[in-house]
Amino acid sequence: MLRTVPDVDILRDLVDGGARRAVIVGAGFIGLESAEALRHRGLAVTLVELAGQVLPALDPEMARSIELELLRAGVAVRLGTSVTALREAGGGTVAADLSDGSQVLADLVLLAAGVRPETSLAAAAGLALGARGALLVDEHLRTSVPSIYGVGDAIQVTDAVTGGPALVPLAGPASRQGRAAADHLFGRGGRRSPVLGTAIVRVFGTVAATTGTGEKALRAAGIPHHAVHLHPDSHAGYYPGARPLHLKLLFTPGGRILGAQATGADGVDKRIDVIATAIRAGLTVDDLAGLDLAYSPPFGSAKDPVNLAGMVAGNLLTGTLALWRPGDLLHADPQAVLLDVRSAAEFGSGHLPGARNIPHTELRQRLGEIPPDRPLLVYCASGFRSYPRAPAAAPTRLARRPLAVRRPDHAATGTPRPGTRPGRAGRRAGRDPAVTATVTAPPGGTAPEDDRGHQHRHCSARDRSYLATDGQATLAVDPQRDTDRVPAAAARAA
Ligand SMILES: Cc1cc2nc3c(=O)[nH]c(=O)nc-3n(C[C@H](O)[C@H](O)[C@H](O)COP(=O)(O)OP(=O)(O)OC[C@H]3O[C@@H](n4cnc5c(N)ncnc54)[C@H](O)[C@@H]3O)c2cc1C
Repeated sequence: MLRTVPDVDILRDLVDGGARRAVIVGAGFIGLESAEALRHRGLAVTLVELAGQVLPALDPEMARSIELELLRAGVAVRLGTSVTALREAGGGTVAADLSDGSQVLADLVLLAAGVRPETSLAAAAGLALGARGALLVDEHLRTSVPSIYGVGDAIQVTDAVTGGPALVPLAGPASRQGRAAADHLFGRGGRRSPVLGTAIVRVFGTVAATTGTGEKALRAAGIPHHAVHLHPDSHAGYYPGARPLHLKLLFTPGGRILGAQATGADGVDKRIDVIATAIRAGLTVDDLAGLDLAYSPPFGSAKDPVNLAGMVAGNLLTGTLALWRPGDLLHADPQAVLLDVRSAAEFGSGHLPGARNIPHTELRQRLGEIPPDRPLLVYCASGFRSYPRAPAAAPTRLARRPLAVRRPDHAATGTPRPGTRPGRAGRRAGRDPAVTATVTAPPGGTAPEDDRGHQHRHCSARDRSYLATDGQATLAVDPQRDTDRVPAAAARAA
């Protein structure tokens, strides 16, 4: 177990003593950081995670780039797998039995499978306990015995977004709670502040961060929400060193920001911290679009990713933008035309099954190649080129296609079904383009069932993976690795 500095000393002694193979149980923050540290020391590391993704604090599609980073660094990642037994295998070796029937041999095993409030003393003292044995406190951090205060990992907090009980074992909230409790003790007010669970981790060269509530939790809480994904550069693309940033923004149908997640090599921390501040201040997506953020080329863009996120979200809410996600292909109209608007070279290096290619630069001249009466799903690598700039050039051809997608998961997700289509798809061509994928739509017509693509998915040209993990299916196309993982239903639909 890894909890204290002396625990780290034990680990270091094991490595110095010749440990060469490690099994880490749990791919949360501590498991990931430990995997990185042990790989840096040259160990063969196997990371075993019960969930179907690494970093369960993030939504699955956002955690994917961390998984890829681990694989690139040589970590063996075993998802959807648990350790069922640990046995002495002789010579200081431990055999870890896994739930899939396999076995991994290790010189050290690190358990990083989550934390539980240690409240046995409080329980013995008769203090009231809440979820998972956490200490119940009031807004001034007082327990059920008012002269006893509770702060930190041991207490139950209120989720600032869902309003439900939560356990957030992080140092920031613990430290602020300590100050608030002391203030109250000395008669200076002292109230606990809302907890957003803002957190960040670096895994080799990639950083992942989150604030507010993720889509999994919003679905579980039945909170209506939309999501947009963006893939802008960390700073102005023409300035050296710009790196892709993957940003997901979650918000209510009224535009209130509910959460955000980001991954990338650079600039993740400041975007998540700005959005954390925006959530705390009760800002809307339109407010995000209008934030006056610092810009010069080494640091950002004239339209910062945070501004862009607000613009894309605003476009979605006004109906300017319609989105679809790769998982939608599983439910797509078999007549749908899947249009890849990337370059011919990109198309040749890998594409969704059944897609036809018309590079966006040729779309205007080649509109006649698109059957006029069939639903149309447009995609590119990041959403930049599939954002409907083509309809601006030829609005009647593309903008009149009905939408192909029928997605039956709205009720389950708590995502509201849009009522009517505002009919402005394509009008704001070329603006705020860094979204994942777009679908053209009938101007002024009645909204098809799923015309607003609330949870479209990550499509990254950089790793050539198109990924959808919406709880119903996983669709991944990678010319090097993943082609055989495309579900047959998706291939048929496409
Ligand atoms: C490896 C690791 C890495 C982490 N990294 C981060 C990070 O990067 N960012 C982040 O936000 N959070 C991080 N955390 C979480 C963070 O450390 C905790 O959220 C934070 O320390 C909680 O503070 P606390 O005061 O509630 O508990 P602790 O820091 O655990 O302090 C509780 C103290 O009480 C003592 N104690 C317990 N029982 C008794 C008793 N009966 N009598 C007297 N003393 C007692 C314990 O020995 C301990 O010293 C990390 C945690 C770990 C284990």
